[in-house]
Amino acid sequence: MTLQTSDVSPADAAVRRPWHPLSLLLVLALWLTTLGNLPLWRALWAVTDHHSLRTWLGLVAMVLIVLSATTVLLSLLVWPGWRKPAGVLLLLMVAANSYFMQTYGVVIDPTMMANTLQTDVREVRDLLSWSMLAVLALGVGLPGWWWWRQPVQKLPVRRLLGRQLGLAVLALLLMLVVVWASFQEFSSTMRNHKSLRYMVNPINTVYAGARLLAGQTAQAQLPLQRIGEDAAMMRSAGAALPTPLIVLVVGETVRAANFGLAGYARDTTPQLRQLQDRGELAYFTDVSSCGTNTQVSVPCMFSHLGREAYTKNNTPHENLLDILQRAGMQVLWLDNQSGCKGVCDRVASASTLELKDPTFCPGGECFDGIMLRVLPERLAQLEKANGAGKVSTGTVVVLHQMGNHGPAYYKRTPADMKVYEPECRSNMLQDCPVEHIVNTYDNAVHYTDHLLGETVRWLKTQPRPTAMLYVSDHGESLGEKGLYLHGMPYMMAPKEQTHVPMALWLSKPMQLQLGWDATCWKKQVANAVSHDHLFHSVLTLAQVKTRWQQPELDVFAACSVRSP
Ligand SMILES: [Zn+2]
Repeated sequence: MTLQTSDVSPADAAVRRPWHPLSLLLVLALWLTTLGNLPLWRALWAVTDHHSLRTWLGLVAMVLIVLSATTVLLSLLVWPGWRKPAGVLLLLMVAANSYFMQTYGVVIDPTMMANTLQTDVREVRDLLSWSMLAVLALGVGLPGWWWWRQPVQKLPVRRLLGRQLGLAVLALLLMLVVVWASFQEFSSTMRNHKSLRYMVNPINTVYAGARLLAGQTAQAQLPLQRIGEDAAMMRSAGAALPTPLIVLVVGETVRAANFGLAGYARDTTPQLRQLQDRGELAYFTDVSSCGTNTQVSVPCMFSHLGREAYTKNNTPHENLLDILQRAGMQVLWLDNQSGCKGVCDRVASASTLELKDPTFCPGGECFDGIMLRVLPERLAQLEKANGAGKVSTGTVVVLHQMGNHGPAYYKRTPADMKVYEPECRSNMLQDCPVEHIVNTYDNAVHYTDHLLGETVRWLKTQPRPTAMLYVSDHGESLGEKGLYLHGMPYMMAPKEQTHVPMALWLSKPMQLQLGWDATCWKKQVANAVSHDHLFHSVLTLAQVKTRWQQPELDVFAACSVRSP
């Protein structure tokens, strides 16, 4: 584009005067700080209750802190070679973050970041909407177009380096001075409203990305730690007992609050209730999840570490499935979601992603029922692959559900399985009345109940001891406190996101084989347990012994009558 042509008006020429690189950087910093952080300012406004002069001064101080922090970040990140694309990328990051924070009340922390990076096409498609497009057009299209077109002065390299780093130092000093001056106000706000710190755009994303990268780099350099190398079956080898089949159902986004068996006003789990009434099923009333998203919860559920150690841990470890396999069991992971998050790396696994079943996968995405449809065939394949001559000591199958994955809950239930109407048939949850959202969510819970009922019916046809353990990976917010979906940092997560349902069904032959007291296992249901207990309790259920098992974390320790 040439500027010397005669038809350029004086006004145009004025606009086209090249920017000093630092001035342009400051314009971007101002945009990101103000419009790019609208959700932060709104949240901050909402938590400051008396709007006095002090409040205003506090807000001004916060704006100055965010502005100077953003300026430091931009001064360090944005350099001539990639100035334009970097600016557009930052605008995109900030607009997308703001959209999700405002729409669903989520915040951006390292685990949310990991979740985002591991998402698949289905999940992204579920989130797309016209209002998202509008936000991106206004927050990226317009400013991005402006940013891209601005001419910038070319400064000698050393001068630019000196000036830009100088700006970073000045901004840092300004930030420190303002923090110091407003320390009391600033620290109490940050302490009382921890989620605010994950709302500062785009610093939250850069911080989360850097933490994640550092963690992954550290993890990639460490060798896999073997655990449970002493694992063996409790039943003596060669004993002519029939080998057990255990199905672990890993639920998705089901919260206990909407689970019929948990005392919810609606009976969303009639089939499980029937099993419970017949004394075949135990429902655990007080179960906490390890994380508030799949990325953390699923690997943590299978880890021996427990929540606290797991979230601090950087070393890759083997998990429960590796131990079961080492003890001689056949292990199969069937996935109807976005993968097993590393849990099934060393065992047999199959995904439903490519299946074209007209009944279960009508729109290209499969309902969870598909897993039961393919299970017998997959099990036969597994047995064949393991060699017909080799006697296995049992089989463990994991069914990883799509469950109640949001926000498009309506996509989780087949049309003929919907019991609560009308549904919210949009991914823009706040556009729907709360009752419609709850109807849609409850339909998906009801469908999970159906799946679990079907699983038990199928297990009852198997000529061997069988068991089914169901547990959800984390809960969900359905508009309580203005929050939707899940993924809140654990320390500030509401109970809706961490209180999950868990149920155990045992066949009569299984009860006999375990040798448990007939009522003991059903008496454990009121104990406060968590995902921390799964590793240790499933070992008992599978009759595998290892010194890695901690009896105090075994839900069924009181019922086992085994001799040491
Ligand atoms: Zn999940």
